[in-house]
This record gives sequence, C-alpha cells and structure tokens, in this order.
Amino acid sequence: MSNRYARQILFYGIGEAGQKTLREKSAAIVGCGALGCTSANLLVRSGLGYLKIIDRDFIEESNLQRQSLFDEEDINKNLPKAIAAQKKLEKINPHVRIKAFVTDLNPSNINNTLRDADVIIDGTDNFETRFLLNDFCVKNCIPWIYGACIGSIGMTMNIIPSKTPCLRCVLEDIPPFGTTETCDTAGIIAPIASLIASIQAAEALKILTGNFDVLSKGLLKIDLWRNEIKKLHIEDIREKSDCVTCKQHHYEFLSKDRYSMTTALCGRNAVQILQREMANIDFTKLAERLNKVGEVSFNNFILRLKIDKYELAVFPDGRSIISGTNDVSVARGIYAKYIGS
Ligand SMILES: [Zn+2]
Repeated sequence: MSNRYARQILFYGIGEAGQKTLREKSAAIVGCGALGCTSANLLVRSGLGYLKIIDRDFIEESNLQRQSLFDEEDINKNLPKAIAAQKKLEKINPHVRIKAFVTDLNPSNINNTLRDADVIIDGTDNFETRFLLNDFCVKNCIPWIYGACIGSIGMTMNIIPSKTPCLRCVLEDIPPFGTTETCDTAGIIAPIASLIASIQAAEALKILTGNFDVLSKGLLKIDLWRNEIKKLHIEDIREKSDCVTCKQHHYEFLSKDRYSMTTALCGRNAVQILQREMANIDFTKLAERLNKVGEVSFNNFILRLKIDKYELAVFPDGRSIISGTNDVSVARGIYAKYIGS
C-alpha cells in the first residue's frame, strides 16, 4: 500500500486491516453544503472505495464562507455543488471512485441512488429529506448519521437500524414549514459545521471499518459560542416507543404521494419544482427561446434565466429552482410561463 495512508494505518483503531476494509466500502453524502463538503473531504482523504455525492443545488457566493470544497471559479463556471465537489475531490485523491448526482433525492430515485451505500451521511438542510432518508435506511438496514447546524449550535446522532433509536423515535413528524430556524434566518459560523461534519466523518470511519463498539451513543449537542457540550442519553427511547418507522415498519415517506412536487427551499427565498416525468431538455433550444425574455446562460448541467427580480435555474431533467420568491404559487406561475407546465 502506498504511503498516502501511513498515518492512518499507524492509528490503533484502523491498522492495515481497517485500511483494507475501508477500501472496499462505500458511503453516500446527501447534501453537499457546509456539512457535506467537510465530511466528503475527510472521507475521500481517508481512502474509502466509493463515495456518492447527492445535491440538488448550485453554488452561490454566500456559500463560500463555510462550504470548504468550493471557490469563486466554481461560481463563475455556474457549477452545481455535486459536480464542483467531485472535481475538487478527484484532485485530492484520484484513487477513490466518486459519483455526483445533481438531483433532488425523492421516493422515485432514492433506491437507485443509495441502495449500495454502507453508510449514509446527512448533509441536508431540511426535514423532508431527513425523514425520507430515515425511512429508507431503517427499511434497508443501512446506518446513517444525522447532522444539523444553526448559528453556533450543532447536533449529530448515529442511527443504526434496529439497534438505536431512529429519527422518528426522537421526532414524530416534520416540523411545519417556517417554524424552524435555518442558516438563512439565524446565520451560521463555519467552525460549528466543520466540527459536526468532522464528528460525522469519524463515526462513518468507525462504521466502515467495522468498529461498531466505539460508536457515539445518543444525541450530541454542541454550542461553540457558549462552549457547551451536551450528550442527551436517549438510547432507551426505542424500547419505550411504538415508533411508526422502526417498530411498526410503516415507511410513509417512501410513498410518492407524501412527497411534495413543489417545495419552498428552507429560508433560501427560492422554490424547487419537480417534474413527475423525467424530461431531457435541450438547453440550446430552450436558450434560443428564452433569450427573447431575459438574460440566459447555460452549460452541460444547468441553464439560468434572469428575469425581473427572479432567477430560474433549470436542470436537464426538467427540475427547476426559482429564486426571488418563497411563494410556491408565484414560482409555479413563472415556471409555467417560461418553461412550460
Ligand atoms: Zn424509530
């Protein structure tokens, strides 16, 4: 084995055997924002076999303060986050197979996207995707690592199906839209995201190398501004509860009807619109048509149209993100007017 992993092999918890096991394993990171960038960086450097990165968004200037895989050039090139992350990570460690998915994880595509992962890392910013992940992972017996940050506070918890409480044991349902603070309403400092993602990456390394006995138990909550670290011991809530997901085995978030085709994106002043049928949009033709109504730019991954105070980003499968509004009906109207219904 090359010198690349020498220090990690020296570490008593990994060794030659652990490194070899790691090489045969795969992980998936869902959401490549502040958490996803850091955990992807750490895992790719550690030398796992295969990493999937799933993200639905493109990079904006306000991301650069904390999303450590991106730079100004990525913004100028209009790259989706998953693609920019893949390009950066391939330069860091070309021995790891990396696949980028520029998509919204939903009940229709989650099985094909995630079924062969040995561990899934939560880098999302919303509960709809987390509940979907939780149902999928409990059903398919895949460990996943919850992570969330806001302000200077971060939380993380390992979910090992049928062994530890699942997300639904802790939280019965998705908090209504607008009731939870987001990075865009309360702000965030980069170090808390970096810290939580580092913990997630360490827990993933333990899972991938089979060191289940040293996994962190319970829900860890850290406030870096007030210097508080709390461990909430919730290990026994699964025994006491009659959890819909992990006790009753009803996976309602995997049902297509439950998933919204139009979603206001968490505090981002933007709305995502999905298509029921996968399209294959010809950007050259669409750009010709839209050039008459506004400022258009496109590459292989994304077409953007600026019009009045709105900006439309269209992806090849017909999915779209409309920035400049949180109102789903306004966004739907703009989409129907310029892209088609
Ligand atoms: Zn549960």
